[in-house]
Order: sequence, then C-alpha cells, then structure tokens
Amino acid sequence: MSQETNIDTEIVIIGGGIAGCIAAISLANKYKITIVDKLLKPIDRIGESLAPASQRIFRELDLLDNDTNLNTENLYLKNLGMQSYWGSNQVHLVDHLKNPDGFVRNLDRKAFENYLRETTVKKGIHCLWGNKLYKSIYKDNRWRISTKTNTVKNRETFVINADFVIDASGRQAHFAKSIGIKRMAFDNLIACWIALPDNSENKMSTIIADEFGWWYSAIIPNNKRIISFQTDPDLIDKNTFKNLDSFLHFANKHPKIQKLIQTSSNNIEFKGTVSANSTRLENPAGNQWIAIGDAAISFDPLSSQGMFNAMANGMQVQKLLNKLDVVKPVNTKYRKEFNTIYTHQINDIWEHYLNHKKLFYNAENRWKSSPFWARRL
Ligand SMILES: Cc1cc2nc3c(=O)[nH]c(=O)nc-3n(C[C@H](O)[C@H](O)[C@H](O)COP(=O)(O)OP(=O)(O)OC[C@H]3O[C@@H](n4cnc5c(N)ncnc54)[C@H](O)[C@@H]3O)c2cc1C
Repeated sequence: MSQETNIDTEIVIIGGGIAGCIAAISLANKYKITIVDKLLKPIDRIGESLAPASQRIFRELDLLDNDTNLNTENLYLKNLGMQSYWGSNQVHLVDHLKNPDGFVRNLDRKAFENYLRETTVKKGIHCLWGNKLYKSIYKDNRWRISTKTNTVKNRETFVINADFVIDASGRQAHFAKSIGIKRMAFDNLIACWIALPDNSENKMSTIIADEFGWWYSAIIPNNKRIISFQTDPDLIDKNTFKNLDSFLHFANKHPKIQKLIQTSSNNIEFKGTVSANSTRLENPAGNQWIAIGDAAISFDPLSSQGMFNAMANGMQVQKLLNKLDVVKPVNTKYRKEFNTIYTHQINDIWEHYLNHKKLFYNAENRWKSSPFWARRL
C-alpha cells in the first residue's frame, strides 16, 4: 500500500548524520524542524577521531559529557596520541593530551550517531528516519520536498512544505545536486577498511606513509581496532580491495600493519571501500537553502577534521540565522547578505584546509616519483 502524507515545517534538514543532527539540535528552540535520513538506523562507518575543539560545541548544546544523564563509556575512548611514520622510518609521537581544548576522542561512530539521533527526538524535532529525498521543487517562495520510505514493505511518501532547506546529506549532496549545483572533486582518494578485536598493548593511533598511499589504525570502544588504507583506485590491482583475503594479503606485506593484525581472519570484519577525496559544492548556499558538513565540503581523512567541521557548520548556521533570519521569505537584500557571509565562511575553511593538506603531504618526500605522492606534491 502506498500513502502520501503532507507535512508543513519551517526548516527541513536532509540528512541526519553529524551535521544534520547538530544543526537540528541547535535550531530546535527557535524553529519548527523536520529532519529526514534515508537510513532507518545509523550504520558502522569509518571516521572515529573527534577533534578536541568539538568540546566547545558539546558544552554549548549540553551534549556528551555535559549531558548529565549520559553514560559515555560506550561512546568514546580518550585518544592517547598518535605514532606517525610520515617523512621518515623513525617514529614521531604526537601527544594529544596537551591540547587546551581537551583530548581527542575515539568514537564508536554508530553509537555516537545513535546518541545524536536520540537527542533530536528528545528535543521534539520531527524525525523521518528511513526516508530518502527524491524530489525538490521551489514554488511561491517555498520548497516542496518529497521523500519516500526506504523499505519495500511500506511505501510511504512524505511531501514536506518548508521555508528553508539545509542539505546535510554528506558527500553526495543529494539536495544541492538535485537542483543543479555542481560538485567539484579535487582527487580520487579512496579508503578500504577492516575492524578487528584489539589485543595490542600500544593503544596509540598509528599513521604510516607508504609508496602507494597511507595506512591508518586506531582503537575504538569495546576493544575494537580499525585499520584502513588510503590510495587512488588506479594505483592498486582492482582485486586488492574486493574481499578480506585479498586485503589481508596486501596488509600483511607491511610489517607494522601485520603486527596490528594478530588475530584469526574469522574475527576480522571486512568493511569495504569508501570515497575519501576532497570535494566541494560550487555554491554552498542559494535560494532559501544551504549545505553543511560534507555536503558543502569534504576533506581528505588525513585532516581528521570532517566531523568537527560538520558540527561547526551546524552551529555557524544557527548563529547566522540569529543575526539574519532568512528562514521566512524576506527581502532579497538580506537573503543575499546571508548567502554571501556563509559562502565566505565556507571558502575560508576550504582555503585553510587546502593549505594544511599541502603542508602534510609535502612533509613526505621518500617516494617523490610514485604517482600517489607526485599527484599531491
Ligand atoms: C576514510 C575516512 C576516514 C575518516 N576519518 C575521520 C576522522 O577520523 N575524524 C573526522 O573528524 N572525520 C573523519 N572522516 C570524515 C567524516 O566521516 C565526515 O566528515 C562526516 O561524516 C561528515 O558528517 P556529515 O553529517 O556532513 O555527513 P554524513 O556523515 O555523510 O551524513 C550524511 C547523512 O545523510 C544521509 N543521506 C544521504 N543521502 C540522503 C538522501 N538522499 N535522503 C536522506 N538522507 C540522506 C545519510 O544516510 C547520512 O546519515 C573520515 C572520512 C573518511 C571517508
């Protein structure tokens, strides 16, 4: 049976990941919000290292350690630092404990996203989990957003009439792309990852540069470890990342990585390959819409800033809307000013990110003629 339901809201947020939930929580006191995510529940994802500056946002929104009713044990571990083999075979230790904002957190990503979703529900935000955006029409100063439930059993369509849209749908930027905004990709980086029980004594994160890319490993709650390899898809045999056996065959050639995989392959989960390239939208804001988080700009995971940026973007929108409330149709001068300020903010973050990325990749000179490094130097 298929059924159509009409919803009227002030702001519709497409994507209930980190950016979408933080934006929803920060805006909930002022606006009527509907948040939509194609996934019924969060899934396991790579990306666990949360920058210390995020603590400021948690404080402002009474989240995580600042949420007095919460047991954080299963949500994150304190990151003890990073051992880095980058630019030389000698280990370089980066101690995270001296950061004035506090420590880096190694998240259980699925549990963290679940926690953010639960908080949006508690805040009374209208949540449509398991609903995918499929059509966006702008008419008479309002957006008409159609979504469909993702399950075959229950085909329900929601038509959401909204004054303002926030695209928080991640790297795919489904809303922005559906209205014709171009997405630019600056490289082709991919990451393949596995998860396994952690038996090691050394609990620091590890980063290792290699001729064809770089390795990363970190521990996460519940005695688990993740290991990933970042490379360009044309540089490795296309079967390398197809299944666990081929990945392990490749990984075990690297002595430092082999040391971290001291368990039977029966205990290892092969998680597959994801895009990890630097991309951005041509415009992060337009007619009564903006894009935040990965939907606006996505980073190379080397930066470890994607989640913090997603949260910070959510907060930026709230602050900007407090200053210039363009949610309801207002005169075009205000709307233009809002879009100009937000676009400048995103451009500044992007420039800053590109400079840092260049600096990091330039610090590795051992394989200058290898295509992976030559493309990035
Ligand atoms: C290999 C790798 C490692 C990383 N490591 C780190 C790290 O250590 N630290 C860090 O800070 N960052 C890391 N990142 C980056 C981080 O994961 C992202 O920056 C972060 O997930 C961005 O959050 P977001 O909410 O903007 O997007 P997402 O997390 O992608 O959320 C988007 C949401 O939108 C939903 N959605 C998508 N399309 C639709 C649609 N059509 N309709 C409805 N819903 C939709 C999705 O289901 C999802 O829930 C890493 C990324 C990669 C690829």
